[in-house]
Amino acid sequence: MGASPEPEPPIAPAPGRQTAPMDADGLLLDFVRDRDAACPRCGYNVRNLTKPVCPECEEPLVLKVGGRTYPVRWLLATVAPGIFTGVMAGVMAVIFLIVGPPPAVPLGAILTGWFFVTSAAVAGAIIIWNRRFVRQPQPRQVLWVVLVWVIHLCAFFIFLSYALP
Ligand SMILES: [Zn+2]
Repeated sequence: MGASPEPEPPIAPAPGRQTAPMDADGLLLDFVRDRDAACPRCGYNVRNLTKPVCPECEEPLVLKVGGRTYPVRWLLATVAPGIFTGVMAGVMAVIFLIVGPPPAVPLGAILTGWFFVTSAAVAGAIIIWNRRFVRQPQPRQVLWVVLVWVIHLCAFFIFLSYALP
């Protein structure tokens, strides 16, 4: 008889780990052992499950990693001025469509309109690519807020200096 192939060694536990590695179902059952958890479908308490299925509604259950709530605070602060200018640009466009553009448009008004549209477009781009924005480190997000608000406040005062006699 030839030598039989050596059996595969068992998968070693990760360093510092006391229990043997478990499959996903094992981890789920371990998680709900002596711990209250609600079935995501019917709300039944699945504490001490013995198989990875809700006993009430038979929903297959998995254990997964969740994120905290989506951090939109700095994103919203960044796009707020652009949303405002977008609405203003829309109102101006509707007025022009109804009464027609004025015969002579002063340069200040053209620049203001151009700024509104550009600002709204940038805000729209940030909203579309919001995941890229939110992934940035927080100081960079705050820098965006400061930059955007400084630019808009400057534009507002320049606009006022044109609009006021
Ligand atoms: Zn259920």
